[in-house]
Amino acid sequence: MIKRLITLSTQIQRKVNNSFALPGACIACSSAIVGHGLCAGCYADLPANDGQCRRCALPLAFGTGATMTCGECLRHPPPFERVITPWRYEFPVNHMISRYKYRGQRALGQPLIQSLVERVRDDLATEPWRRPDLLIPSPMHRNRQRRRGFNQAEDIAEQLSRQTGVPWSVTLVRKHRQHGEQAGLGRQKRLANLRGSFVVDSPAPPRVAIVDDVITTGATARTLALALAKAGACHIEVWALARTPN
Ligand SMILES: [Zn+2]
Ligand SMILES: [Zn+2]
Repeated sequence: MIKRLITLSTQIQRKVNNSFALPGACIACSSAIVGHGLCAGCYADLPANDGQCRRCALPLAFGTGATMTCGECLRHPPPFERVITPWRYEFPVNHMISRYKYRGQRALGQPLIQSLVERVRDDLATEPWRRPDLLIPSPMHRNRQRRRGFNQAEDIAEQLSRQTGVPWSVTLVRKHRQHGEQAGLGRQKRLANLRGSFVVDSPAPPRVAIVDDVITTGATARTLALALAKAGACHIEVWALARTPN
């Protein structure tokens, strides 16, 4: 009986977490929500990533739009052309993303994913030659994916694909070995941690977009882009929900 109750409660919890309608108050200010976990005011105040590095989307103190290149990209040009990311990884975007990916509250990912879709769509309408042949969600090692229940990058790529018509693949790249958590590590340690961790099994098409939830130091994007470039990709972009400010 107890075992059946536990199973039932797990099923209900999973159903609530996977629901796209989140009951309760705005996660940023506790007032009534209009949908997807935020009230209208907080949705309007989400931290937009304006004034960013044209290459890696690092938020810059000066400048508007993507007109400048940061020092890191000047010193070590990344193996990707550019990063599209509409939000800064600041409150409440950071809370929304961690609840979306660690607690499976998919509703909180929706407004962020939808704004990325809209940014990409606008971009492809003005510069159609940038259209990628394939979307590559940043792969997660299968053990971690099993523990978490889903890979948020695949979830985002699936929605981008459905709304832009660009196909996506989860089979082209594999995460070869499990390394420690990237969270809390600096850029050099992250790069060392990731070395040799992505395996591309077959030739990559010329134009690809790597899809991820957050770009932190850019180490994952750089390592994955290098692996895709070795497999034949020559125009690589990164599409993500948010970018950390440093
Ligand atoms: Zn609010
Ligand atoms: Zn940069």
